Amino acid sequence: MTDGRPRLGFIGVGAMGLPMARNLLRAGYPLVFCTGRAATVEALTAAGGTHLPDPAAVAVACDTLLTCLPADAEIDAAILAEGGALDALRQGGTIIELSTASPAITRRLGEVAARRGVAVLDAPVSGGTGGAEAATLAIMVGGAADDLAACRPILEVLGKNIYHVGPVGMGKVFKLCNQYLAAANTALVGEALTLGAGAGADLPLLVEVIAASSGASRALGGAAENLLAAEPLPVGFRLDLMRKDLGLALALGAETRAPLATGAVAYQLYGAASASGLGDRNFSELGKLLAQLAGVNLARGE
Ligand code: NAD
Repeated sequence: MTDGRPRLGFIGVGAMGLPMARNLLRAGYPLVFCTGRAATVEALTAAGGTHLPDPAAVAVACDTLLTCLPADAEIDAAILAEGGALDALRQGGTIIELSTASPAITRRLGEVAARRGVAVLDAPVSGGTGGAEAATLAIMVGGAADDLAACRPILEVLGKNIYHVGPVGMGKVFKLCNQYLAAANTALVGEALTLGAGAGADLPLLVEVIAASSGASRALGGAAENLLAAEPLPVGFRLDLMRKDLGLALALGAETRAPLATGAVAYQLYGAASASGLGDRNFSELGKLLAQLAGVNLARGE
């Protein structure tokens, strides 16, 4: 602790983690991090952070460790594996796990950590890179109420709406339900705009009218902005990550026997989009593949 504030560590300073780490530094928390990316080292060092070589070095140097990694394999490698962050974190420390990953690996993390006297908050986020920068994320927290109370000041630096949704693992369940809807809705927006373009509709007007009608959704605004732009917009949330989230939701549905028929079809479309080279583009660019299949161009509206 320094001045009564926990020393923070951050592992996974990517599209989401970097702006979150910057906000924590701005709020006055001491923060150590690791990354292999020179531009990130420069950005966070300039903001007052300290760069360390690897996850274990970060864990040794902090009281509360935040992780925002792609998914299960990276959580395993960086945190759970022998010589990883969990081995190095002090007893009485806390992990705030922000990634979108499976409930199963998150519960395993919670159990292994508890045996070592480390608390875990399962705290996936929603709101995109814009929300991370503006500190307006929604955060869905699974974990013990007193652990959440202790970490609330940290979470309040990152987001606006902080929900306690149940025990460790339940944060990921809530997040996967949200991603299921966002992924399927975005695929539907691509299909609806393709339908309109093929039938000669004025696409900006179509989007404006639907936004005021019963087909409106947040996915409509986000996807239309990307699909109708003359030039591709900054990536934000990568299509391969959305495909991963939808896959995690389908796997959860297979466990619980939920009939996830619509999302299963959408998952095939995200897979095809990834295979066609859109995996590192914004996830809503799935609509470009759908338009291409129909022989229309959404940006040109024809
Ligand atoms: P990203 O790929 O930009 O960032 C991930 C970071 O983790 C990278 O900097 C990478 O170098 C690092 N990393 C990977 N393996 C590592 C390891 N073994 N040790 C240390 N660092 C490692 O991804 P992102 O867009 O920031 O997403 C992170 C998580 O947040 C994902 O689970 C994603 O689904 C979720 N999420 C993303 C968004 C978004 O809009 N981008 C929104 C909400 C939630």
